[in-house]
Amino acid sequence: MSDLSRTTQPKIIAVANQKGGVGKTTTSINLAAALAELGRNVLLVDLDPQGNASTGLGIEPDERNVTTYDLLVGEESLFDAIHKTTVENLLVIPATTDLSSADIELISNEKRSFLLHDALRQPAIDAFALDYIIIDCPPSLNLLTINAMVAADSVIVPLQSEFYALEGLSQLMLTIREVRLTANPDLAIEGVVLTMYDRRNNLSQQVEDDARENLRDLVFKTVIPRNVRLSEAPSFAMTILEYDPQSRGSQAYRELAEELIEREKT
Ligand code: ADP
Ligand code: MG
Repeated sequence: MSDLSRTTQPKIIAVANQKGGVGKTTTSINLAAALAELGRNVLLVDLDPQGNASTGLGIEPDERNVTTYDLLVGEESLFDAIHKTTVENLLVIPATTDLSSADIELISNEKRSFLLHDALRQPAIDAFALDYIIIDCPPSLNLLTINAMVAADSVIVPLQSEFYALEGLSQLMLTIREVRLTANPDLAIEGVVLTMYDRRNNLSQQVEDDARENLRDLVFKTVIPRNVRLSEAPSFAMTILEYDPQSRGSQAYRELAEELIEREKT
């Protein structure tokens, strides 16, 4: 897949929702892994100071020598920040807790909202022949998430299938609108994906009905079921596709990757 002669740019997708625990990191890791399995070259950018995506992909803290923080705040090159993973075609820029201070450190920087945008457009990126860059956002609408939205072509919003799921979505939509008005007019909403869906639970069905009624085609057809294998995989530093390739979680993220690619054709 390393075609150095090609000129197309990677598609950059921010996985965002200011609520914590809705499945952003699980979706970032496993959608990225499923796209990689389909032969796409994928870079996951860990933009959460908690570094869960980095841990989930097996990048030990002492291996995180150059991180997202260095890319944003320092002068480190993209080349040094990109780490290999055990998954073929999947690269990662890891995060550490350093990143939690970026918000404050960058306040006086005129370009503070464009730092990730600019970092991901360094010419050095061409050498990786990336098809996708997936950004795992922190659970907040802070400067880091703004950086992701300014850098991105589109946003994927994981929505946990539980009560109050749609609450907070309007705040997220307002932020997207604000970013469009100020910095990134072409920012699209790739889609909303229902996560931790439980077919035996009426509430899940209600949230789905609500979401589809209000957001219509923005909601991915693919629904991610609640699947314990998905929550176990990161503690073995594996994606779901490595940990349990036949699980319902694996099937769902493969379907999501295929739906994403399919949508791009239309
Ligand atoms: P966020 O990044 O939005 O904070 P996570 O992806 O870390 O959310 O998910 C929160 C918790 O829920 C984690 O412990 C994760 O393993 C678990 N989880 C996420 N998606 C699922 C799922 N579909 N089924 C079961 N557990 C899940
Ligand atoms: Mg997370």
